[in-house]
Amino acid sequence: MDSPEARFEELLLAKGLRLTPQRKRIMAEALTMGGHFEAEDLHDRLRKKKSRVSRASVYRTLPLLVETGLLREVEFVDRHAHYEVSAPGDSHAHLICTSCRAVIEFRHASVERALAEVARSHDFEDVTHKVEIVGLCGKCRRQMK
Ligand SMILES: [Zn+2]
Ligand SMILES: [Zn+2]
Repeated sequence: MDSPEARFEELLLAKGLRLTPQRKRIMAEALTMGGHFEAEDLHDRLRKKKSRVSRASVYRTLPLLVETGLLREVEFVDRHAHYEVSAPGDSHAHLICTSCRAVIEFRHASVERALAEVARSHDFEDVTHKVEIVGLCGKCRRQMK
């Protein structure tokens, strides 16, 4: 498998974009983020490290990293995008509570197998996918009673 940088550069070239030092910096830092993060978190971290990367380019670069398959986008209920590093072999999914906004991660082998099977049967290469169950957690449901 090609290096993350090579994969990113390939995608950028296909879009007529270049792998600028800024984009490279954003990519490198994004790949060190643990757990779920937002564009703001990444921008803060870059700023603390004295990287001259604008907020706008962080916002623009994150979706490109998702397209490359290096990050996954997690759509939480508060409308703005959250991201996480897409670790090979770890494709956990999320349960998202619309009331308290809790995010619970889960892994389910047969869900993974089913998705891989769907991709294969459509002659599709599964670069990334997301499974999200959006609803109400038990705590919120009990409080509503
Ligand atoms: Zn809840
Ligand atoms: Zn997650």
